[in-house]
Amino acid sequence: MNPIATKVAVIGAGISGAVCASNLAKNGISVTVFESARGPGGRMSRRREITEDGRELYFDHGAPCFSTTNTEVEDMIKVWEARGLIAEWKQNFGSFDYITKQFVNIEKEGLNKKYVGIPGMNSICRALCSDPGIESKYGVTVGSLEWSENKDLWSLKDKDGHDLGQFNGVVASDKSTFSQRFTQVSGKPPPLDLSLTPGLADIVKEVPVRPCFALMLAFENPLSSIPLKGFSFENSEVLKWAICESSKPGRSTSSERWVLHSTEQYAESIIARAGLQKPSNAALTEIAEELFQEFQRTGLDISLPFFKKAHRWGSAFPATSVSKNEKCIWDAHKKLAICGDFCVSPNVQGAILSGFTAAASIFSETVSRL
Ligand SMILES: Cc1cc2nc3c(=O)[nH]c(=O)nc-3n(C[C@H](O)[C@H](O)[C@H](O)COP(=O)(O)OP(=O)(O)OC[C@H]3O[C@@H](n4cnc5c(N)ncnc54)[C@H](O)[C@@H]3O)c2cc1C
Repeated sequence: MNPIATKVAVIGAGISGAVCASNLAKNGISVTVFESARGPGGRMSRRREITEDGRELYFDHGAPCFSTTNTEVEDMIKVWEARGLIAEWKQNFGSFDYITKQFVNIEKEGLNKKYVGIPGMNSICRALCSDPGIESKYGVTVGSLEWSENKDLWSLKDKDGHDLGQFNGVVASDKSTFSQRFTQVSGKPPPLDLSLTPGLADIVKEVPVRPCFALMLAFENPLSSIPLKGFSFENSEVLKWAICESSKPGRSTSSERWVLHSTEQYAESIIARAGLQKPSNAALTEIAEELFQEFQRTGLDISLPFFKKAHRWGSAFPATSVSKNEKCIWDAHKKLAICGDFCVSPNVQGAILSGFTAAASIFSETVSRL
């Protein structure tokens, strides 16, 4: 595709931003991705930990896997599989009931296909954000976005007020770019002032979110009393999911690694006490111990881990979908698209569909103005 003299800034290198950036670049648009974190992935990140004795461990501490019911997403999955970015995770999944102390509802393998990134969940975002035509800047938080009506351009600055350049279009792939929650956490106004775009402000409003804690565990030996590699918990107010990280394809098996997810209710109760600010290491250590004790309460034979660490996801899941039908929020005049899972559904599929639609909106508007 020949390049089009249009520059678009994509804010966020999670899956919605990455899919959007890749589809824009494929259509000849020059894309710059800005991501606050040190690397791509967002809530599909992969966490690297070094133990006290120098062992390197990796965990998918956000989304452990994903599935789809949508044919457009299925087509993308086929391409990503062919590029070696993902693989199907073939395991039996089910639930553990704390009352009967039994594994129940065991799903037949392959019934509901689950995919994982190779070697980590962030691999899709990493590859898409490196596609030709995309410049990705990590560790850069967009702090302000200003629209100039005369120039028909957006000017972006980082959080310290440094110039990040001018762009014909902008894609904001995180609700924090316009949310009051940004102010609650940072004390600063959100980068995008939606009151200047009243049509959009009416649609978006504030997106309520559900928090979650993830507990990363590493054991010397396999937990052989556990027959499943992924299961939900029934009748626990503390734990919701357990996933055996080292059973996924493409992972190191030198230790057995599990990731447990707390219930929303448990995470809410901690946040109600401690507030929205980043939890201290001491607080995270205490939470890790509480979550681990709940895991031991299953009565299963669970040895002591050599690594145990909790992570807080303050906005793990959006509690509403603000644009289910349109799939992204779009201002054609300013070439401003807002996308992310909170537009469609609180999962990877919803984020993919939203990013894909944002790219299509920007591209068709660009072509119509040529
Ligand atoms: C614990 C957990 C378990 C989950 N389990 C599943 C599951 O089993 N299946 C499933 O399908 N989904 C699951 N999800 C949900 C899934 O991870 C998300 O729906 C999806 O990854 C959202 O992608 P996104 O691109 O919309 O947002 P995000 O991944 O949040 O990406 C937004 C990005 O924007 C960046 N950003 C924000 N503001 C700025 C700024 N001002 N400047 C620069 N960068 C900025 C952020 O750092 C972030 O990287 C899970 C999520 C969590 C947390």
